[in-house]
Amino acid sequence: MPQKYKAVRGTADVLPYDSYKWQYVENKMIEVSRLFGFREIRVPVFEHTEVFTRSVGDTTDVVQKEMYTFDDKGGRSITLRPEFTAGVVRSVIEHGLTNEALPLKVCYIGACYRYEKPQAGRYREFHQYGVECIGAPAPSADAEVIALAKYLLESLDISDLRLELNSIGCPECRPKYQAALKEYFKSHEDKLCNTCLERLDRNPLRILDCKSEVCSGLKAQAPVVLDFLCDECKTHFEGVKRHLEAMNIKYVINPRIVRGLDYYTRTVFEFIAEDIGAQSTVCGGGRYDGLIEQMGGPSVPALGFAMGIERLLLVMESRKAAFPRPKPCEVYIAPIGERAAEYASKLCGLLRAEGFSAATDLAGRSVKAQMKYADKIGALYTLVLGDNELESKVAVLKDMKTGKQVEVNLPDGLITAVYDQTINSAMDDLTKSIEKMEGLFNINE
Ligand code: ATP
Ligand code: MG
Repeated sequence: MPQKYKAVRGTADVLPYDSYKWQYVENKMIEVSRLFGFREIRVPVFEHTEVFTRSVGDTTDVVQKEMYTFDDKGGRSITLRPEFTAGVVRSVIEHGLTNEALPLKVCYIGACYRYEKPQAGRYREFHQYGVECIGAPAPSADAEVIALAKYLLESLDISDLRLELNSIGCPECRPKYQAALKEYFKSHEDKLCNTCLERLDRNPLRILDCKSEVCSGLKAQAPVVLDFLCDECKTHFEGVKRHLEAMNIKYVINPRIVRGLDYYTRTVFEFIAEDIGAQSTVCGGGRYDGLIEQMGGPSVPALGFAMGIERLLLVMESRKAAFPRPKPCEVYIAPIGERAAEYASKLCGLLRAEGFSAATDLAGRSVKAQMKYADKIGALYTLVLGDNELESKVAVLKDMKTGKQVEVNLPDGLITAVYDQTINSAMDDLTKSIEKMEGLFNINE
């Protein structure tokens, strides 16, 4: 018995009957990005490992335990992207894009890889849509990036996610906060999990991101970052809030959000859905003013967010959001015999050129079997073609939903003609297609 292969743990197939949901969501992402002036950037799935260790930060979960890192055949350390920002920043610097008109606004869609414990909303291969706005220091930029995420969610019919907002300061003010945090957690050292004990010295901020129950319990009494912000960070944060209010975007301040990546400065935010289980953050982002310089580029402030597409789909499914279905096969042509089969192929070509989805027999099946197939694939109309039809140049077009049949002319393989109005009204959701069909079929009542 041959071995049955299974997809690798934490990965999933998007099957043909579900892919339209992904296409719908991804098309919306591109469309909304365009409305906000964000153009797509495509970066490689893998990068030199340092691209991620330098940017994401080596005290983060991502770098410490989640990266898919391997040596390639040339002995170079390569990592599958666990997120996009690092690669996008690498690309922007490499191609000197910061010399172009700033802000540079880009978006991306693609797969990311993290070695995590798979569960609902958490996978080893997952997909992100995100944006990066480079060279935009003003608070209006933070608000605009948040507004884009909000607009996208709303255009997907999700308007109830909670927007949580925080500022985690800058290299001026954060050290004071980190010192206070360290002091606080030091006094509870005995209760910290092993990972957080390590974090205590290297990056106490990370403890706030710990998922373990004990550490989470300690967070409640921990010093709050907002109390430590310098005047500039405070003013910036106030500006972001004012802009959001001006756009009527509701938010709640959550001083505990720190985000899972080290490069963030000032504004951080998350969009949260309570009802999809423990993995409730659908979108997370913020400012990373120091990252481009830290990666060897010019000193240019920037910000962005990333949205998990699987989690977004979970939210949409949980709210029974409508995913517009793509049109099925509009006309299935069932030929009998070789001559009819050749004509059917030609007819399919004509229909497709007019924008109709047309299909014909590819398996040498009987008419009965073909009709069964047409039914299974949800064909809207079928057209049987035999010798008689070829001789008379008249065939019967059947509406598969209503069973109604009408004769159509097939003049010399070039179909002219007018579509019947009575059928037209029976297929209301197809009105548009039918209008086009008028030019193709000639109907004899
Ligand atoms: P979490 O706290 O859920 O682990 P994170 O802070 O690691 O999230 P980011 O690195 O900011 O997440 O990624 C942005 C978004 O990508 C998340 O909000 C989530 O929607 C999605 N995401 C992150 N990791 C995964 C994963 N393993 N599987 C599915 N989606 C993910
Ligand atoms: Mg994570």
